[in-house]
Amino acid sequence: MKLKHAALTILTLLAVAALAAVYATRNREYQSDQFLMDTLINIRVYGKDTETLKTAVREAFTEMRRIAELADHFPQPGTAGFEASDICRINAQAGLKPVKVSAEIFEMLELSKKYADLSGGAFDITIGPVMAIWGFGGKHPVVPQKTALAKALQLVDMKSLVLDPAARTVFLKKPGMKLDLGAIAKGYATEKAIRVIQRYGITSALIDAGGNIRVLGRSPRNSPWKIGVKAPRKPGELAAVLSLEDSSAVTSGDYYRFFEADGKRMHHILDPRTGYPAGHSMSVTVVTKDAGVADILSTAFFVLEPAKALQLAGALKTELLIISADGKTLQTPGLAGSLRPASPSGSLYEQGR
Ligand code: AMP
Ligand code: MG
Repeated sequence: MKLKHAALTILTLLAVAALAAVYATRNREYQSDQFLMDTLINIRVYGKDTETLKTAVREAFTEMRRIAELADHFPQPGTAGFEASDICRINAQAGLKPVKVSAEIFEMLELSKKYADLSGGAFDITIGPVMAIWGFGGKHPVVPQKTALAKALQLVDMKSLVLDPAARTVFLKKPGMKLDLGAIAKGYATEKAIRVIQRYGITSALIDAGGNIRVLGRSPRNSPWKIGVKAPRKPGELAAVLSLEDSSAVTSGDYYRFFEADGKRMHHILDPRTGYPAGHSMSVTVVTKDAGVADILSTAFFVLEPAKALQLAGALKTELLIISADGKTLQTPGLAGSLRPASPSGSLYEQGR
């Protein structure tokens, strides 16, 4: 009897030890949301130690917030937000003098110059004065008067954005010029946040910054992450599902910040050549490793005619999915293996704009 009891105890102990071992090697999830850059940002990370996961997410948000503050162009002079923002200080000194900036802002501006050139001016962060008269930053955007628009357009000029790498200064030559990093800051901050997470040894993570998706490694199911691309004119429905590993998918669309005027959809992605909303596409999704580059390119490709966008995506070796203004789906050939139509039953997916 005693022997049987001892055997049972040992068996029980063995079972507990086995369970504990399984539990210790199993991945745990930690996730958190914060409202930043006008968007709800979700970060989720997977790993064995919950404390490490929590610290990594907290630090990743701190990094995103720091970059968001440096890049914010909305704060008014005299506020703490204004003093914290390199972009506010650059804009305030337009036509006056160069401004010393952080390494991050300098890098964003260099990237912006590079892709402004590559896109033939479709991507242009000096769009600030035109954005301001449309009022997209506020609650009541309006179609601007033609003369006011023409005047603001004269200040949209990448050649008058002077970068001095040695002194790390930035100068806007013309008074009234204004930088707007709305098309790059979220993606850039997301990429930096992923690097923070990697420093904690984490190999599986996802950041969803309102449509800017960056995944690290494979999903906790040890398969590629499934990312939904929203159908631009059918709220709640997906147009496609992408499989992603260690990469980003960033969407620019005409359906999340817009108003109707003169029977037209007036949205916030402007063609710098005309000052009016770009009209070739409803939605453009770029797949490439770096979320900052993906963010820039989604905006640039949204402005370009689809044929030109596809050509440039091929040259830059990035993948691209376009839903054009007439509802056609166009894509780079490399996307075929990782893209499938959304199943009507509602497929399993992580997130997407
Ligand atoms: P996204 O959603 O990434 O395409 O960025 C849109 C935001 O980028 C707008 O809200 C503006 O702040 C800014 N923007 C609009 N048009 C352009 C453009 N042609 N080039 C660069 N930035 C732009
Ligand atoms: Mg963008």
